[in-house]
Amino acid sequence: MNHDTSSEQYILVTGSGQVLAVSDTAQSLIPHISPLLPDLINGAGEDTVLLNGRTYQIHRHLLKSESGESYGLLISLQQTSAVQSSDPRLGAIALALSDKLEINHVLENVVRFAMDLLNADAGALPIYDPDTDRLLPGHLVNLPVDLIVPVIGQRRGLMWQIVHQGSSILIADYADHPAALPELVQVGVRSLLATPIIYGKTPLGILAMYRLRNEPFSESDRELLQAIARQTAIALQNARLYQRAIRNADERFALYQASIEIGATLDLEQLYQVIYRATTRLVSHQRFVIAIPTENRMVEYVHIVTPTGRQAPQQVPLHCGLAGYVLRFGVSLRLSGAQALPEPAVQLLPEIEGELADGSLLAAPLIVGDRIIGALLVWSNHHDAYTMADLNALELLAATVAVALHNAFRFAQIQSQAITDNLTGLANRRHFLQVLHQEMERNRRYHTPVSIAMIDVDHFKQINDTFGHIAGDYVLREIARRCRQQLRDVDVLARYGGEEFGLILPETTYEQALKATERLRTVLATTPIMIDGRQINPTISIGVASFHPTVYPDPSSLIADADRALYLAKQQGRNRVCGVQELTNDAQP
Ligand code: GH3
Ligand code: MG
Ligand code: MG
Repeated sequence: MNHDTSSEQYILVTGSGQVLAVSDTAQSLIPHISPLLPDLINGAGEDTVLLNGRTYQIHRHLLKSESGESYGLLISLQQTSAVQSSDPRLGAIALALSDKLEINHVLENVVRFAMDLLNADAGALPIYDPDTDRLLPGHLVNLPVDLIVPVIGQRRGLMWQIVHQGSSILIADYADHPAALPELVQVGVRSLLATPIIYGKTPLGILAMYRLRNEPFSESDRELLQAIARQTAIALQNARLYQRAIRNADERFALYQASIEIGATLDLEQLYQVIYRATTRLVSHQRFVIAIPTENRMVEYVHIVTPTGRQAPQQVPLHCGLAGYVLRFGVSLRLSGAQALPEPAVQLLPEIEGELADGSLLAAPLIVGDRIIGALLVWSNHHDAYTMADLNALELLAATVAVALHNAFRFAQIQSQAITDNLTGLANRRHFLQVLHQEMERNRRYHTPVSIAMIDVDHFKQINDTFGHIAGDYVLREIARRCRQQLRDVDVLARYGGEEFGLILPETTYEQALKATERLRTVLATTPIMIDGRQINPTISIGVASFHPTVYPDPSSLIADADRALYLAKQQGRNRVCGVQELTNDAQP
């Protein structure tokens, strides 16, 4: 195989990766180099690539206009040599390796080829991960995985020596070697030949060959293995770049999809679920949290998903937990193991956030303008589960999510303003009528009882006349607050108008409603309100009615009856509760 090593080929691309021109000689390389273009354009690409079985030196020339703006990139590829050995079999390996860009495919092929060429009985290609300084099992042939895992896990021994020293080793009589592993001796390894796979100065892995028969590897075997390792380095690097390119494309698509879905949702609950799905598409995790800060310096975990499913929302003080940390400082986190906790130390919340000791975490704040409006957090059960690329992906998603969540919060606020009474913060009349309508429907279908009460402040005009309208407003707010405190969450207390309130008591019978409202009346009558240093005791009168579908065709007929009972209470002297069953025909307002 003889190649013209002097011919140079050119590709002209725009900053966005569009190919503008290609020299004739480079035409055939386009399909092979396309996946690498994004990296080559942003300068992350490597100087040497393996394309279609040949090695090329790459040069980048940034094309600039007179004003200094860059408008394109000229990539020149100079073929260095076809293969770096006279052994024609190496040409085959180079071609086979560059033909597929999947890392697993590269690993498998390399081990098989090397075993063939070197007549080895077993082989391994552990991968070195420089980010975490760890060896991963990679690919094994004729060796059980459970054998290699402790070898690479202990961070010492021959394999680590190869990685750290960057040189190959040849052991002719393995069993007698002081660093021999009993496990390997036991499976019958007699001779070992291993060489590092190095790209530039970065170790990528180890190519190890084993012979079980009594025929040790030779020095020429070592040279051959080193030549294979050099080809492997380029192929692996290409595969990594390719995977990064694929991953970027996948990520971009996932983010694009997420942004459309997320942007289209104003309903908070729906939005939480969309965010959860989008995050899950982007990074794998066993635990997921959306946390938002509340006005009273708490963290609200609005969406928690654990391996056992979705959990109920929770609130904890802002100074606790990793979510609280992210919300306070607005920083992203990528942690593995408890020892990696950020400073200042945070009080962990294992019940909500899980144990960090054995796993890893990614967290990104949700920031709009200069406000931190929330945080996204994911946990994995595995050590070092997340890379910087994962964190970047989560941060990109967080940017989209933040704006959408901000809009949804505002929308929810506007919606709640539409059903809220400004003075008291209670539901307004419109909302009262809406809920009453729903509750009556529910009763018709499921026969669950529902009662209502109309409540009017006694002699309120006098309070206004004595203390002024503003003090009167205050008294109304206080009455509303005190009543609300006595009620269940499902009860709807509304300002029906002026100093009159409406109350809906779902799942409550007539008798239960009389008792509940009597409690309201008593509490108000016995706890005075202070105005201008003076103590007043406003009282209320209450009329109670229970819904029955054959008696009340619509909400207004039910309200009218409760109003009649209220009028009766006023007639009977005020500060009392009357029910519709006490009405006689002459008790008309
Ligand atoms: P009773 O219901 O016991 O028969 O006597 P009352 O004095 O409460 O009855 P009335 O309905 O005659 O007076 C209600 C007063 O409530 C009249 C009105 O000025 C006052 N009011 C209504 N809405 C507000 C409000 O929003 N703020 C204040 N300060 N007063 C209000
Ligand atoms: Mg009144
Ligand atoms: Mg009134």
